[in-house]
This record gives sequence, structure tokens and C-alpha cells, in this order.
Amino acid sequence: MYELYSIYKSMGISHNVYEFGEKICGSLKGRFEAIDEMAEYNQLKVLKALQKNKVSDIHFVPSTGYGYNDQGRETLEQVYADIFHTEAALVRPQLTCGTHALAVALSSNLLPGDELLSISGKPYDTLEEVIGIRPSIGSLKEYGVSYAQVDLLPNGDFDFKGIKDAIRPQTKMVEIQRSKGYQTRPTLSIEKIKKAVSYVKSINPEIICMVDNCYGEFVEEMEPSDVGADLTVGSLIKNPGGGLAPIGGYIVGKRAYIERAAYRLSAPGLGKEVGATLGILQSFYQGLFLAPTVVAGALKGAIFAANIYEELGFRVLPNSTESRHDIIQAVEFGKPEYVIAFCKGIQAAAPVDSFVVPEPWDMPGYDAKVIMAAGAFIQGSSIELSADGPIKPPYAVYFQGGLTWNHAKIGILKSLQQIINENLLEKDVI
Ligand SMILES: *Cc1c(COP(=O)(O)O)cnc(C)c1O
Repeated sequence: MYELYSIYKSMGISHNVYEFGEKICGSLKGRFEAIDEMAEYNQLKVLKALQKNKVSDIHFVPSTGYGYNDQGRETLEQVYADIFHTEAALVRPQLTCGTHALAVALSSNLLPGDELLSISGKPYDTLEEVIGIRPSIGSLKEYGVSYAQVDLLPNGDFDFKGIKDAIRPQTKMVEIQRSKGYQTRPTLSIEKIKKAVSYVKSINPEIICMVDNCYGEFVEEMEPSDVGADLTVGSLIKNPGGGLAPIGGYIVGKRAYIERAAYRLSAPGLGKEVGATLGILQSFYQGLFLAPTVVAGALKGAIFAANIYEELGFRVLPNSTESRHDIIQAVEFGKPEYVIAFCKGIQAAAPVDSFVVPEPWDMPGYDAKVIMAAGAFIQGSSIELSADGPIKPPYAVYFQGGLTWNHAKIGILKSLQQIINENLLEKDVI
């Protein structure tokens, strides 16, 4: 038999690092099986929706100009609605990213005098400007939409008493962010989201519950829309694009709210009827078809990384045994050198730009230097293997993606190898 290690060796992985990785992999068989089973479930869920809608090659034909009667676009939106079990969906390349999709969902359904209430603490960084938590041109605040926030409890649970106290007559929408994003709180399970949505509805059934679903799609068998969320929103250059969608976002939910979102995205009077797809739809369909397995690969990578670095004595979040509700893995290194070495290793494992050496830089909107590793086919695509770390305490690196498990694995081994090559690990740990 050929020797698997020989190819790892030719790619700069030492025998000790390889063996250490194999030992960790061996201990993860049961968990990987459970992930494969989830992927199987979600694969069939996606396949069933494609078949039900009789997807055919006519649906991949480009539309141009206004994009009237784009059957491919309309069918894709029905496929999304079927997968998420919602009345309607808006899935468009004109939704330029996750932040944009969220901004459209918010600004179309909130009117002057309304209040938005976040019940999962501070929302994702880029939403601060959308909402107006940080002053910004065109924010909801500028349009007279107020904002209130209830933090999660220290153990990561919803603060039900706080939510009750914060709901006021003008509370029009409640926002829940499923993934921890770049915070050190746990990601919310669908079970927890279900309880929170029911609780909000028990206080006032008119409140629109919106879930920022970024990084959460296909990790569990249910989505927020299955447990009462009125709007579920995400990015196509994360999980549901399967690595193939080159741009895009989705909003799924109740018809009335989706319609408003469509009128905000294009123009009042036009709504869903316009929006040429320019030949992009095949990648949306095919990426969606692959997404459950891609997510499974990314999840295996995250669990592998958690187990590797926890074994080496670092704090990892989620920890090595916790259940997973998104694809992000954080490793707290405590020292900047480790963060930099980790990111160099991830970059060196990339299929694109592997020869580039990442360095910390002053990124707009951040209060510390940030280092990013991304050698992706699609710019900024974080379903592809990527990592980033702000150069400030606790010197944590956030790691996600990998279009295949095998690629995530070499990426993590490379990160460890880089840390070892820079003599950062105590000698006899490995
Ligand atoms: C990535 C992300 C966003 C924003 O998506 P972009 O595509 O980067 O604009 C919003 N919320 C969460 C939780 C995310 O992970």
C-alpha cells in the first residue's frame, strides 16, 4: 500500500505532527459518524426540494436587463422556501453579502417609530452601523428606528426576565444571532432559539422574530424557520452557497415580510419581479446541493482543531466534546506569536495564494490590528478554509470552513507545524 504520510511529508508535515493528528482523528470516529448522518439528512432535504420543483437545465439560463420572468430565479426561491419550510424566499445575487441581506430584512420591515430589540446581546460587528449603534450614514437610527438590547446571561442562555422587561409597545422586531460570530459566547442551538421565539410570541405575537443564521445552515436538522422565526437570513458565501456561489444572500420567511424586503431591495412597485441573474444560477443550485456535505467537512475540521489544540493545553471554544451549532472554532492562544503562526499555517495550506505570508494590519472598523488567512477561490468566502485573529488579548484565533474535510485537516496540521517550526510549543508535548 502507498504510504499516506509520504505525501504529508512532501508538504512539510513532520512525522510527529502527522502521528499526533492521526491519534486525534482516531478518537473522533463516533463524532464524525454523527456529522455524516446529519449531512445525509440535509442532503436528502435539499435533494427533495430540487426534485419537487422539477429543477431542469432551463433554470440555469441567464436572464439579463430587468430579468422579468426569470424562471430559474423563481424556482430557486421556491427551493429555498421548501428547504426552510417558509412561505417565501428572496435569494439573489443583488443581495451582495450577509450584512446586506440583514440590512434589507431590517430596513424593509422596520418603520420610523419602531424599535428593534436584540435578545442575543451585541449583534455582529457590521450590523452596528446598519442599526446605528455606531453612527453611520443611512443607519436605521437615522430613519427613526430605535434599538434596544438584552444580553445573554453569563452562561449563554437567554435572559427571559430581561426580554420581558425590554419588550415595549413599539418593539416591532426581535433579532437573534444564532452564531457566536467573533464573540466568546456559545452559539445558540435551534432548541434554545425555539424557546426564545415562543417566549417573545407569548408576550406579543405581532413581534417579528428575525434570526441571523450566518454559519448555522445545515449544522442541525432544523433551521430557525422550523421553530417559529418569521425571517431567517444568511450569506451565500458561507454555508448555503456550498463554496460555489460567487456572491449572494438569502432571506426566507413569511410572505408579507419577504415582499417588503423585495420592495426595499429593488424598488417600491418592482419588488421580486426584477433582478437579472446573469448566468449565476447554476452555481447557486449546485452550491446548495453540495452545501450539506461541505458543512460536514467544515464541522469535522472545527472539531479536529478543537481536539488538537485542547490536547496541547489551549482553551478552545466550543471545547473538544461540546455539541456544534455553527462551523466556527475559536482557539485562545494568550500570545500574539501563536495567532500569527496559526494563520501562516492556514494560509500555507490554501489552494489559492498559498505562497503569500499573512501579516497583521490595521483593518477599517477594528480597534486592533487583525491578521487574516484566506486563500480562497471566492474573495472573502468563509465557507472556504480561513482564519482570522485580532492582535489583542486574549489572542484568540477564529477558524472556519474548508470545502472538504481533507483540506481542513491539512490546514490544521499546517497551523500546528508552523507553531512548532517557530519553536513556540514546549519541546516534548508532541
Ligand atoms: C458573516 C456574518 C455576518 C455578515 O455577513 P457578511 O457576508 O460578512 O456581510 C453577519 N452575521 C454573522 C453572525 C456572520 O457570521
